Amino acid sequence: MLAAPLSPAATFVGNAFYGDAPDDHHPWAIHDRNRPQPRVVVPGTASTADKPGKPPSDAIILFDGTEASLSKWEADKKEAGPSAWVVKDGAMECVPKSGYIRTKDQFGDIQLHVEWAAPKNVQGDSQGRGNSGIFLMGILEVQVLDNYNNPTYADGFATSVYGVNPPMVNALRAPGEYQMIDIIFRRPIYKGDKVIDPGYVTVFCNGVLVQDHTPIEGKTGHMKRSVPGPFPQKGPLKLQDHGNPVRFRNIWYRELPPRVVEGSTDGYLTAEATKAKRAEIAATLRADAAKLTPGSTDHMLRLAESLVYAPDAAARKEFEKQAASYAAGVKALSGTALEAKKDEAIRVLKAFQYLAKSKVVPASFAPKTALEQVSKAAGWDEKKK
Ligand code: MG
Repeated sequence: MLAAPLSPAATFVGNAFYGDAPDDHHPWAIHDRNRPQPRVVVPGTASTADKPGKPPSDAIILFDGTEASLSKWEADKKEAGPSAWVVKDGAMECVPKSGYIRTKDQFGDIQLHVEWAAPKNVQGDSQGRGNSGIFLMGILEVQVLDNYNNPTYADGFATSVYGVNPPMVNALRAPGEYQMIDIIFRRPIYKGDKVIDPGYVTVFCNGVLVQDHTPIEGKTGHMKRSVPGPFPQKGPLKLQDHGNPVRFRNIWYRELPPRVVEGSTDGYLTAEATKAKRAEIAATLRADAAKLTPGSTDHMLRLAESLVYAPDAAARKEFEKQAASYAAGVKALSGTALEAKKDEAIRVLKAFQYLAKSKVVPASFAPKTALEQVSKAAGWDEKKK
């Protein structure tokens, strides 16, 4: 029986005033309940030798074995038009001398899944056996080659970044069998002629890591040293015609989220980016506070929570007023009325203590001191036996 699907709408209540507060390079607290929940993706299934697996739910499918999906591709020529590559047995096969094939889609940073099989009928050697290529953005080749008992120059091996970096190991299956290739590609990012991030290629071949975050040195080429330089924002995926009828199946990709240098707020940020994000989170929490009953404990604590991210004179003034009033109210209680307030008062005291620890309020914050005195007098801080 299938398990109930994950609910994309599920929210996390969590605890405010919990882990270490945001700092100059992290807009979120540790274990921050306000940090967005990861998006739900239904995972796919693994391929077998005979049958391609199912892509994850958010994958964009480039080829699924059907003629129809071949229409997502075109001949890699100036005058775009249909490619001569053919669909056979659920695979698209290179027709030698017909030229490269490219996707009509263009994309930048991706997780890419490709399966390829070299011809079962072994012909040629070295670079002449089962050669094709996975050209990321059309300009960086992750080599496709039948290196099963077929030596060649190491930097031109199957799953090499062609001419740049050999795979760490040769994890190929025999010709005729499908190789499952998973690639994580991050393109180079430049600001003018200054490199901000060289970009990286990570490759798994049949589940075995073969390129480990290999820095990109530029476009790849034959006999030529790669030259570092900017890549476009997007480009097509190209598959190479190197004169061999190599087959491909089950091709899909997932676009990757931006990196910190492109504005992501997950990671180690600049002081400027952190400040901006903290201000944004604080504004969201203050807007949320405005929906709560004015003067309620929840309202007071939500305002306090917003101050952990960013200062705000009006929110601060309102919070301090409510905190003073709250502490005075608790202080005036005694007997059963005080005991009835115990759990909430301890929660508020802990919040005030967190604010002091995080330097949002001074250690001498009067409402905190007042609640500490009440707690001590009532014996609330004694460890339970
Ligand atoms: Mg090649």
